[in-house]
Amino acid sequence: MLVNFQTILKDADEKGYAVPAFNVYNMETVMGVIQAAEEQRAPVIIQFYSRLATTGFVDYLAPIILKAAEKASVPVCIHLDHGAGFEPAAIALKNGATGIMVDFSKLDMDENIANTKKAVDILSVMNIGVEGEIGHIGAAADGVPTDYTTVEEAKKYVDGTGVAALAVAVGTAHGRYKQAPVLQIERIKAIKDEVKIPLVLHGGSGVPDDQIKLAVQAGIRKINFGTDLCYSFLDSVFAVDRKIYAIDLFMKEPIAAVKSFAVSKIQLLGANDRV
Ligand SMILES: [Zn+2]
Repeated sequence: MLVNFQTILKDADEKGYAVPAFNVYNMETVMGVIQAAEEQRAPVIIQFYSRLATTGFVDYLAPIILKAAEKASVPVCIHLDHGAGFEPAAIALKNGATGIMVDFSKLDMDENIANTKKAVDILSVMNIGVEGEIGHIGAAADGVPTDYTTVEEAKKYVDGTGVAALAVAVGTAHGRYKQAPVLQIERIKAIKDEVKIPLVLHGGSGVPDDQIKLAVQAGIRKINFGTDLCYSFLDSVFAVDRKIYAIDLFMKEPIAAVKSFAVSKIQLLGANDRV
């Protein structure tokens, strides 16, 4: 069933687990994620990157996600990832998104707050929660980031915007890490104690399992998996026997690979058997 962002995170917050958010790119990645969620009885967030909204990709992809979410017997939220301004947010909403991340983290604090609040005000009319970001979460290729979100910044931002969830910079980055990141677990705990709302961890791919578990215990309620989901799909595509040319048959293994990847993350986050 299709549910909105704040609803899916509320249950996780009450029960102390995290909802996995998987970045999808095509029908097959959607199918793998949904099959995993159904099998594991897990709520799941299916998200698409902002670029997919502004390049027209989502016009084709969103109806597939929407149909999958409506058909599913588990809660599914359709979420825009790193909405770079109001235009991708509007495109995502037009296409049925039930959660929106706006990312104004490149702006200074006051401008970030002002723009994010505007998005929250508009989207509250539609009962759609907003994910905001404070402290820029960089790219893993640039090395392990150390400009962490502070408790004071987080409090000011949450109070000033009314976001439903907050993405924090606590030692993760996007893409493939050169060395395993070390998460700031105590910082996560301190921010959660102060702001209370669900916290979001970006760059979940490649973070060691024990750190993921500690982060969830400390208050992370949504973890994004983009890079590793792509690799689970693509590695399998490259491994499929080229004699198979009917695309539906060719895609059986890649779908199964995405499903197996999603199952492992659902279990790691404790999101299984929640429905
Ligand atoms: Zn991110």
